[in-house]
Amino acid sequence: MGPRTSGRSAAAAVVVLVLAALLGSAYALGRSLVPDEPRPGATNTATRTEYADQPAPSPSDARPSAGPSRDGAVADQDAERQHATDGGDGLFGSRVTTGSRRVALTFDDGPNPDYTPQVLDVLREFGVRATFCVVGENAQNHPQLIRAIVADGHTLCNHSWRHDVQLGLRSPDLIRADLLRTNAAIRAAVPDAPIAWYRQPGGAWTYPVVSVAEGLGMTPLHWNVDPSDWEAPGALRIATMVTRTATAGSVVLLHDAGGDRQGTVDALRHMLPELTSRFELEALPVDGTT
Ligand SMILES: [Zn+2]
Repeated sequence: MGPRTSGRSAAAAVVVLVLAALLGSAYALGRSLVPDEPRPGATNTATRTEYADQPAPSPSDARPSAGPSRDGAVADQDAERQHATDGGDGLFGSRVTTGSRRVALTFDDGPNPDYTPQVLDVLREFGVRATFCVVGENAQNHPQLIRAIVADGHTLCNHSWRHDVQLGLRSPDLIRADLLRTNAAIRAAVPDAPIAWYRQPGGAWTYPVVSVAEGLGMTPLHWNVDPSDWEAPGALRIATMVTRTATAGSVVLLHDAGGDRQGTVDALRHMLPELTSRFELEALPVDGTT
């Protein structure tokens, strides 16, 4: 290698180094410009604490549940993996949007004597109807709240007997018995109440649970906006996340039970003025179609 060649190589090396430095800083700049904002249906894992290490259940992971889990916690990994939150079909054909431009607020895990009446009050104040995904044993314990939900024109949704996030891994007979027991508790409070929707706890859908729910005349209902309100991040954060990410057709996941839900109640007062000005909010139709 002569001096001429080596000079050219050195120059080329300098160019490569300069380019690498430029690309590196551009990459760093780009990273810093990306807003650290959760996407609809997905969750910023950095904000997860309580369930950060909880894996999504799958047929190969049939460990018993540690107890009730909020719905967004388990579903996120599956939803991200399957790109189910972009407005199309969800996992195993579950619904993630309303199918129209209308937006649906959904309240899970109740009814609860502390928070469900407050949620009903705020919704009434704003003239909004919503959908309540109720847990069977809570319906049995608080039939008057099931009656209050129906009396205000909201839609009921079956959310399993005791919020079993592993329900989808059980036999079709057990799944069916669980869903029927829940519907029976709802109808003990409101005979002939239409129950056209089923939401799997944790969003942990499986083919058997979808199949059984549909066989019982219930449409599987997922969501595409999840402010992780069950983590109690504060009313403003919940409200801001919903108003920033809701789009036409969104199904918004909220909770009126399962912990201190005062933040969710207060978030409604923050978000409903804007949401009602931008969208028509609907209780999901009781015939399961839109
Ligand atoms: Zn739930």
